[in-house]
Amino acid sequence: VSTAARPLKNDDGHLTGAVVVFNDVTGLVEAMAANEELVSNVSHEFRSPLNSILGNIDLVLEDSDGLSALTVQRLDVVQRNSERLLALVSDLTLEASAALNVHPKRTDISGLVETSIGSAQAHAERSAVALVANVPSPLWAYADPLRIGQALDNLVSNAIKYSPDGGTVTISAAGTEDWVKLVVRDTGMGMAPEDAAKVFSRFFRAESARDAAIPGAGLGLSITKTILERHGGAIACASALGGGSTFTMTLPTPSSTTM
Ligand code: ADP
Repeated sequence: VSTAARPLKNDDGHLTGAVVVFNDVTGLVEAMAANEELVSNVSHEFRSPLNSILGNIDLVLEDSDGLSALTVQRLDVVQRNSERLLALVSDLTLEASAALNVHPKRTDISGLVETSIGSAQAHAERSAVALVANVPSPLWAYADPLRIGQALDNLVSNAIKYSPDGGTVTISAAGTEDWVKLVVRDTGMGMAPEDAAKVFSRFFRAESARDAAIPGAGLGLSITKTILERHGGAIACASALGGGSTFTMTLPTPSSTTM
């Protein structure tokens, strides 16, 4: 139920009553949940064939000796666009999830990191980027595992996407009594600090990404920020042009929250 209230005052400005409007939003919430489920199912169905397309293009390009330069060039275009579709599918999933409230609970962050690394492994190998994790286990946060898993996936896939071959992506985490900090650091192209301050704005893309013609919609980080804020947490970015980027997510611990 959503409520709105207004005081009623007489001509002298004295309070004489109030109007309270109750709105039953059950239908809306149900529709949003159904929408998310649909998007999530569709994304899942899109992801497998796209990964198969990308895997096969990789295999063909790895053994491209018998192919003409024009064929290799055309396959590159197919590869780039398939990667772009895969990224858009991820953004769609995130967008649908950010529309909903989060359901935080006592969650082990080290488990989420392990899952995220597992699902990013193929992307990292394709991009010749090493994935390293440095996270104590267990590390308890008050987090919705699905949403924070999506946020982490987004940071890790960006870190790989914006890193040249031979780069390293490091995921580390540490906790205090009140906060858990989860950090994704890369050795990639980075961006100017004034751009780093704007990356959480919807549709914003840094000059470095546009100059390098790396495809993207500029949506993922704004959605990721919404997910963190719904947890009472935060996300920050520090970067330098050519010097890699560091994204830090802060989440409350179970003991800092009245559960
Ligand atoms: P997308 O990557 O689809 O463009 P995001 O919202 O995920 O959208 O990121 C916004 C912008 O922030 C990107 O376009 C890019 O310019 C910059 N960015 C994000 N992550 C990194 C990173 N790890 N290294 C360098 N730039 C990044």
